[in-house]
Amino acid sequence: MRDFSTDHSALALNTATLGHNLDGHGAGWSPEQVIYACADRGYGGIVFWRREVKKPIRLGNAVRAAGMKVAGLCRSPFLTGSLAHTSDQKIMDDFYASIDMAAALEAGVLTIVTGGPEPGTKGVLQSQKILTERVARAADYAAARNVNLALEPLNPAYGGNRTCLMTVADALNVCDVINAPNVGVAVDVYHVWWDTTLVQTLAQRAKSRIFGFHLCDWLEDTSDILLDRGMMGDGVADLRALRSAVESAGYHGMCEVEIFSAKNWWQRDPQGVLDVIVDRFRKCC
Ligand code: ZN
Repeated sequence: MRDFSTDHSALALNTATLGHNLDGHGAGWSPEQVIYACADRGYGGIVFWRREVKKPIRLGNAVRAAGMKVAGLCRSPFLTGSLAHTSDQKIMDDFYASIDMAAALEAGVLTIVTGGPEPGTKGVLQSQKILTERVARAADYAAARNVNLALEPLNPAYGGNRTCLMTVADALNVCDVINAPNVGVAVDVYHVWWDTTLVQTLAQRAKSRIFGFHLCDWLEDTSDILLDRGMMGDGVADLRALRSAVESAGYHGMCEVEIFSAKNWWQRDPQGVLDVIVDRFRKCC
């Protein structure tokens, strides 16, 4: 397992940590402000959200000029469920557009948040089939642009409308069917920390298919399932055990801090938030 206590070059900031995933949150920093502040502190990478990227080629170059990587792009449109576009054509067009943006950023990884059960269906199996078919259709397109597609299973609490993949095993099942080298999974501690089968699943099945590892913490008494994620070390997730599991399964990429926190971290000065992240990454992760 890598030693982060004196080296945080594997640390990446997901800009959702500064509220950039939703309108009206955070301090409203520009992507350029984020780049300079992260580079100053020795971060290794940044993950942007589509909504904040206006000129992807220029932005990607600016990140690399500052000595960092674009560690990923959030995210695909929903590919199934009530929050997805209403036609297959619109869903796929938007999916391809998100792949194009990842390619222009030279991000390497596009995170897929799947969307929930299809309207008119019950449970998730039928939706997983539709998801599989849509991701399979885009896999070659993404591969031709050097983009890996990372299926991110979400905590089952999001199963109503945001995901039809609740576990890493679910996501790997989809990967198995598609069987493309650029289709894998993103492991986010917020979504998987509770899963006592995770270590075994990763060890037996993940091989080289982990494309992302996302950090935050699960607060003991969380007040909002979407927007009250904790800073690493403030909650109950066993962060080191989770990292050990993904690294044992062959993941040695960036560790991406992704904290949606409307009432706490998004209220603070981003400069201080970025400092706390470095400290916690070294001490707790
Ligand atoms: Zn995540």
